[in-house]
Amino acid sequence: MRIEKMREYTARPDLLQGRVILVTGSGDGIGAALAKAIGALGGTVILVGRTLKKLETVYDAIEADGGPTPALFPMDLEKAVPDDYDRLAEAIEKEYGRLDGLVHNAGLLGTRTPIEQYDVTEWQRVLFVNLTAPFVLTRLLLPLLKASDDGSVIFTSSGVGREGRAYWGAYAVSKFGTEGLMEVLSGELEETTVRANCINPGPTRTSMRAQAYPGENPARLKTPEEVLAPYLYLLGADSRDVTGISFDAQ
Ligand code: NDP
Repeated sequence: MRIEKMREYTARPDLLQGRVILVTGSGDGIGAALAKAIGALGGTVILVGRTLKKLETVYDAIEADGGPTPALFPMDLEKAVPDDYDRLAEAIEKEYGRLDGLVHNAGLLGTRTPIEQYDVTEWQRVLFVNLTAPFVLTRLLLPLLKASDDGSVIFTSSGVGREGRAYWGAYAVSKFGTEGLMEVLSGELEETTVRANCINPGPTRTSMRAQAYPGENPARLKTPEEVLAPYLYLLGADSRDVTGISFDAQ
């Protein structure tokens, strides 16, 4: 596994001009901050998430900031059926004819409990949202990514996806799988213009982090806006030949 740190990156104001980028889980946390940053750099964001109201708030913020009009696609990755996934791909094809960036950001923490007690249904839910849904979406959207001059797929990893830690159960396992999926895909895409990389955002002030560490002082953590450097780098042309790497944002 090749790991690199990227804490800072200066994005040109027009870095993402004309690019079409889908971000899952873009209603809250890191995904919402990323969607707004993409809009501010001229990119068109396809907002995918399970809570319509949150997606609408991000949509309105991008428009108020003068960014390109986003597309809004409410979708619960866990409950969606194959037809829903197909409709998403068809809508992107019809509207844009290609996809320049795909950010798998949506995630579920699940309960932190020993493997001996881990609920099997919850195990399946966490693995589905964190690992299987990114596989399904990538598989479905690869033809549109290949239609781009410069397509980029970003998977979201975690420290517990590189070294297992007690009680992190399905979440840790899903993130190990995510690193593996990225490496397999990146190897398969070597002869194409599409690249695939992972980002571990590191401890970030979001509701997922608060759920995992309820006793922690959130003021000590980086905000979602402060961990975006590798995301923006990987979505723009500066990372054209960069693939198969797992980035640390902190
Ligand atoms: P948040 O909980 O703040 O945001 C997660 C987003 O994913 C939410 O918008 C949520 O939607 C969405 N989501 C969850 N389940 C589904 C689903 N079934 N279908 C569609 N959308 C879904 O988490 P973060 O911003 O902290 O996490 C973003 C990513 O970063 C995750 O992959 C996480 O594992 C990873 N990460 C985060 C770290 C941290 O310290 N925060 C550290 C390491 C990795 P809704 O708001 O509607 O619930």
